[in-house]
Amino acid sequence: MSMFERAKRKRNLQEGYPQDKGLKNGHCNRSGCLAPLEGRPHWWMRDHETFTDERLYYCEACATRFIAYDKQVGAPVRCTLVEDQE
Ligand SMILES: [Zn+2]
Repeated sequence: MSMFERAKRKRNLQEGYPQDKGLKNGHCNRSGCLAPLEGRPHWWMRDHETFTDERLYYCEACATRFIAYDKQVGAPVRCTLVEDQE
């Protein structure tokens, strides 16, 4: 387990979320969603909060909303689909 993943799991638990929120095959990182990601498309966004630039994972429904918002406000699109998913 990477240092980022260890720190993220600890923070998730402290905040009362599933331990694997935002992690690969875990749960969507959006607090109001938390959809299970196992076996489903993963979208990722850089974690600017910790300045590690690690990837945080989101479900497709949330990614679609983020992308629509980014385009609406003319900002760079933040979400990228994981292409090499098993
Ligand atoms: Zn979601």
